[in-house]
Amino acid sequence: MPVESAAPERARELRDNYDDILRQVDEAAARRTEGPQPRLVAVSKYKPASDILALYEHGVRHFGENYPQELEGKAKDLPSDIAWHFIGALQSNKAKLLAAIPNLFAVETLTSVKAANHLHNALSSAPSPRSAPLNVFLQVNTSGEEQKSGLPALSPSTPSGELVDLALHVVQKCPTLRLKGLMTIGSFEASTSGERNPDFERLKESREALVAALRERAGVDAVRALEADGGLELSMGMSNDFAEAIEQGSTNVRVGSSIFGARPPKA
Ligand SMILES: *Cc1c(COP(=O)(O)O)cnc(C)c1O
Repeated sequence: MPVESAAPERARELRDNYDDILRQVDEAAARRTEGPQPRLVAVSKYKPASDILALYEHGVRHFGENYPQELEGKAKDLPSDIAWHFIGALQSNKAKLLAAIPNLFAVETLTSVKAANHLHNALSSAPSPRSAPLNVFLQVNTSGEEQKSGLPALSPSTPSGELVDLALHVVQKCPTLRLKGLMTIGSFEASTSGERNPDFERLKESREALVAALRERAGVDAVRALEADGGLELSMGMSNDFAEAIEQGSTNVRVGSSIFGARPPKA
């Protein structure tokens, strides 16, 4: 289906919102001493393809979606050089659908060996093989809240666990996947306390512990290869906490409502 253009006022509103967030991203990045320029992912779930196209025409390429079918439809209708991020709950039976999207940039929500195998198998047998492995972020439940998905965080006192096992599995058994980093959704309280966010600190600590564990169990060369690829990223920060997340080391922020406006409540 061809995508209709957004009304001019809507297109202008989206551009202004995006530019405003991008400026805040740059300012937050300037307040820290090191690290790459963070990637701003525009989270477009529930929003029409015309909104995405308006931002695309403004130069935006990274968009995030939560629902596989919605992503599949938008990816078909919109330009093929969009870099899509899947950021929703990953069910194994949706791996095939995701693997068939050629311009899927990353799955940010991998939490199980089973889902990794489904993705790997689907990618291995895809009719048109991708030119590069699919980036995956492993989701970590840094807040410990029961309703959040994600694997338990690592720390110096808990240097092993499911997160290490899954990372090893991806690195050693899934050549169609590339371990790109860790992802978390901070707790709402932590993001509004105005202090350094403990959930973001836990994600950073998890990365350190994971790299140490991989060095030990996958070998120095495997870790060198990861580092040559830019090292493991941290995907953290949303509309209400992306600036703090960047100051705390985020390399990938996922911003929805501050760009597109409020979403309709879930049915
Ligand atoms: C919806 C969503 C976002 C964007 O949230 P906003 O608060 O609207 O910026 C980011 N990450 C994930 C995983 C999401 O589901």
